[in-house]
Amino acid sequence: MKEEALLSSIQRIHPIQEKALKKLGIKTILDLLLHFPVRYGDTSTVNTIESLRDKESVVVFGKISTLKTSKGFKSKIAMSEATITDDSGSIRAVWFHQPYIAKMLQADSFVRVEGKVSSRNNVLYFSNPKIETVSHVPIGVGDSLFSSEDVHVLYPVYPESKGVTSNWIYHVVQKIFKSGILDEMIDPIPVEMLAKYNLPSLKTALIWIHTPQKLNDAEAAKKRFAFEEIFYIQLKKQKEKREWKKLSAFVIEPDERHMKLFTDKFPFPLTGAQKKSIDHVLSDFKKGYPMSRLLEGDVGSGKTAVAASAVHAVATTRPTGQTFGNLQVAYMVPTEILAQQHFESFIKYFFGSGIQIGLITGSGCRKFPSKINPEGWTDVSRAQLLKWVANGEIPVLIGTHALIQKSVKFKHLALAIIDEQHRFGTLQRQSLREKDTIAPHLLSMTATPIPRTLALTIYGDLDLSLLDEMPIGRKPIITDIVLPNGRDAVYAKIKTELRAGRQLYIICPRINEPDPDKERAIAAKSVKEEAKRIQTEIFPEYSVDILHSKMTPKEKERVMDAFKDHKVDILVATSVVEVGVNVPNATVIIIEGGERFGLAQLHQLRGRVIRSSHQAYCYVFAETKSKKSVDRLQALKKAANGFELAEYDLAQRGSGELAGRKQWGLSDIGMEGIRNIKMVEAARIEAGRIIERDPTLKDYPLLHYKIAHQDQNIHFE
Ligand code: ADP
Ligand code: MG
Repeated sequence: MKEEALLSSIQRIHPIQEKALKKLGIKTILDLLLHFPVRYGDTSTVNTIESLRDKESVVVFGKISTLKTSKGFKSKIAMSEATITDDSGSIRAVWFHQPYIAKMLQADSFVRVEGKVSSRNNVLYFSNPKIETVSHVPIGVGDSLFSSEDVHVLYPVYPESKGVTSNWIYHVVQKIFKSGILDEMIDPIPVEMLAKYNLPSLKTALIWIHTPQKLNDAEAAKKRFAFEEIFYIQLKKQKEKREWKKLSAFVIEPDERHMKLFTDKFPFPLTGAQKKSIDHVLSDFKKGYPMSRLLEGDVGSGKTAVAASAVHAVATTRPTGQTFGNLQVAYMVPTEILAQQHFESFIKYFFGSGIQIGLITGSGCRKFPSKINPEGWTDVSRAQLLKWVANGEIPVLIGTHALIQKSVKFKHLALAIIDEQHRFGTLQRQSLREKDTIAPHLLSMTATPIPRTLALTIYGDLDLSLLDEMPIGRKPIITDIVLPNGRDAVYAKIKTELRAGRQLYIICPRINEPDPDKERAIAAKSVKEEAKRIQTEIFPEYSVDILHSKMTPKEKERVMDAFKDHKVDILVATSVVEVGVNVPNATVIIIEGGERFGLAQLHQLRGRVIRSSHQAYCYVFAETKSKKSVDRLQALKKAANGFELAEYDLAQRGSGELAGRKQWGLSDIGMEGIRNIKMVEAARIEAGRIIERDPTLKDYPLLHYKIAHQDQNIHFE
């Protein structure tokens, strides 16, 4: 296919551009065609230079002159300077810290300048505006010598990289269009489907997205590409689901009384949502093919109890045709601390049942019960533990990644549970399933609240159980949105909690101080800087430590243990630290730079302080006073659960802002499509129909090709 040829086959590329293109992920002609504009400029809103006023945000077109780089008189800051002239007048532009700008531009070329007008001693100028070269000044602005032909009212603005400007991309795209390649491209989406949903063909969509005559065309094109992306994911996921259904799995049918005896032993009554989820699992167990179920529930919604019930059902079932032994469970969690925590909970749940439990982590192995002390566990060698697992004596094995090593072999693995599944890579998750010839049932668990449409797409191969109900009697977290002038009062309140022996988390958006030389350095609080400030200025009498993703696992564990043992009162951390960790005495959380986070993410962060019987507090510090962002944050005080907040995020901020967007590996347009429930449903139905009729896609070679190559781009983590 011609569109898969290298871009250099149609356009000469300088080394500097090659580097930039690589950064943008563009190698082939098709890559460039799929590099869509982020927005469209509208030449009808262009200003003449004469009409500019101080502090206005504007677009002007003009010719460039007096181009130079210099150093600031006092500051010695390297800067670029230029003068832009149109029919009506001239204006100076300066770029601080960006000497390369002057080198990229050429005197006498035409440019488009976008930015805010500043003024100094009553002279107007641009400071750090966006600038790009254009082939001509659009008509109606500036130089009337320019003709009107070939001028689009809407012009595309592309994501750039140093060395490749939006304008360059525009011209190469035009060149590709003129080459006739579009006519030879085959549309992988069946024509009937395009007609049914009124979507433009591939060729039309490409033209519309790059050079729309009107915004509606661009929208229609985007819709098509979004549909296409979601459709491929659905196809792939449903194909996998169908393949799973062809495998056989252990049939597990515990009797009801037996299950009830187990669940009655929990020190709490199950919530309705927990009961329903357990029923889902038990009914999947009977089907003869492997369960693929995702259990989604907020932090603290009680996923472990559901998992434990599933474990009980399996571990008390005999292997088919045997009157002795038990089916086995592998229970994988992301950290050693969590693995130990679960091991200890499971000892309580299974005490007296005769079920043996093993723990395997990088730093050692344990077994319950111990021969010497039947009420406790004992350290065992790895070799010994693996032997017991391999001969089926230990039915329940809990562990970290250590669980999926080749050396770990089960005799009758019937159920694989993955806790905090988003913390594992796809391959790690798959390898847990591939441990036996009879496929194990799979129960994946996550606390990541995502909108329904996104779940339907990225988890299209899984059946969903939602824990959308919190255990009763849990005190809601008192949440406050705090503006800059409210800080001191909050610190005073927190001091009372610290004095009463409670502990505090402070979450910051960054690890290090922003680099002052970096363009647009965000002035967000950093973990290191904030820890220093808190220690010296705010809470000097309490001990402070830090935790962030760049630390080694050993360092992290040391800090986490110190915090757990209350050797540290205040933990300043980034948002990526250990999820699911239980420090019941930490009852207060401060989140700095609240407006930088999605609501669902904020909700997850505050979930760390609900594990105690003490009243918990969450203070979201906002840096701006903008009513809109404060209003958005107020939703945290009202929302019933994380899913509600995820939906709210999707509606209010747009999908681009969804926490972890990159995590899903969807493109911006794909994420945009997620907002459209009808489209997601349509893609799902169509994918289902095709897979039903033609499970191997033999009649759809192009679709087959597409989803086979999708793996390289998309990851479901
Ligand atoms: P998560 O869903 O975050 O994994 P856990 O399973 O760790 O939540 O449960 C959080 C806490 O809530 C645990 O201390 C657990 O014992 C308790 N819990 C679970 N289910 C219930 C319930 N139905 N009623 C009261 N407490 C419960
Ligand atoms: Mg959990």
